Amino acid sequence: PKANGKYSVTLVPGDGIGPEISKAVEEIYGAADVPVDFESVDVTPSLINGITTIPKPAVDSIYKNTVALKGPLATPIGKGHQSLNLTLRRTFGLFANVRPCRSVEGYETPYKDVDTVLIRENTEGEYSGIEHIIVPGVVQSIKLITKKASTRVIQYAFEFAKTSGRPKVLVVHKASIMKMSDGLFVQTAKEVGQQYPEIELGFELLDNTSLKLASNPGLFKDVVMVMPNLYGDILSDLSSGLIGGLGLTPSGNMGEKVAIFEAVHGSAPDIAGKGLANPTALLLSSCMMLQHMKLNKYGDKIQNAVLKTIASGPENRTRDLKGTASTEHFTRAVIDNL
Ligand code: NAD
Repeated sequence: PKANGKYSVTLVPGDGIGPEISKAVEEIYGAADVPVDFESVDVTPSLINGITTIPKPAVDSIYKNTVALKGPLATPIGKGHQSLNLTLRRTFGLFANVRPCRSVEGYETPYKDVDTVLIRENTEGEYSGIEHIIVPGVVQSIKLITKKASTRVIQYAFEFAKTSGRPKVLVVHKASIMKMSDGLFVQTAKEVGQQYPEIELGFELLDNTSLKLASNPGLFKDVVMVMPNLYGDILSDLSSGLIGGLGLTPSGNMGEKVAIFEAVHGSAPDIAGKGLANPTALLLSSCMMLQHMKLNKYGDKIQNAVLKTIASGPENRTRDLKGTASTEHFTRAVIDNL
């Protein structure tokens, strides 16, 4: 902590609904007396020697604080930039993306017992960004799997299983088809697993996991799933759908030196600036952040107030949760429930 007893955290408000939901977090943090000072930074990138580059003050702030909360960033299409989210993950070596999904009591969905944890490899795989035209009409996109990145994310999954009390790590893959790339991921898991004899290790094909998640998500409550990048991207949105949508699901991007917490959803350009956004996903991401900072007391307080607000009825829920509340109304209701 700083001299004033508070911790400095970098805040990237983001694009689209980002500023609206970030404001909600700041207001709720103020009301809950969370000992955090947000340092707001701009990450609008510049293209330096053809490489998408994040402004130095933003990079310095994140390295200094080691913890950041990030709103969604819109990916410009066809402007010569790489995805800024990918750039952030690469800049800070954020190798594991942790995405928990738990049923929200009081918000009706087909399943009441969803409690999944999915860990997505965050730096390579299908998102290595290596694509080229072989000849006109033939394009090649490279899926890169390395032993180094696989080891890091699988080790993280085992550590997460240990600390969260989940007895099993489940590797989700498609090594039946991608024998070499996913095969390396699977082989690495077998090797890493030997260091964790107390944790059960299982393997499942991606299509089979999708079927089970959609038909009986309760099967995954004792499990930490770990998988290559694209599979994690898709299955985590599927999991979000099971509990009520993207407005609810938080995530943490974990690196060696830095952790950046963000909602799973994007900048929602269709509702931006209209006061309709649900800040829950960013709020719950910030609760994961407080847990990471060992400020659980404050994280629990905010999480309980958020869940209580959602359960209190449609007048206090935003439209994505079949409610009528504006972002502002929801924020006030959370503050009342703190
Ligand atoms: P999106 O997640 O922004 O929106 C999908 C749908 O969900 C929309 O109908 C939107 O209104 C709704 N939604 C999302 N978050 C909501 C919230 N908090 N409250 C209420 N409704 C919400 O996905 P998209 O439209 O495919 O992407 C928009 C932009 O965001 C793109 O530029 C994309 O690249 C970017 N994106 C960024 C991130 C990130 O920063 N991590 C993640 C995904 C997409």
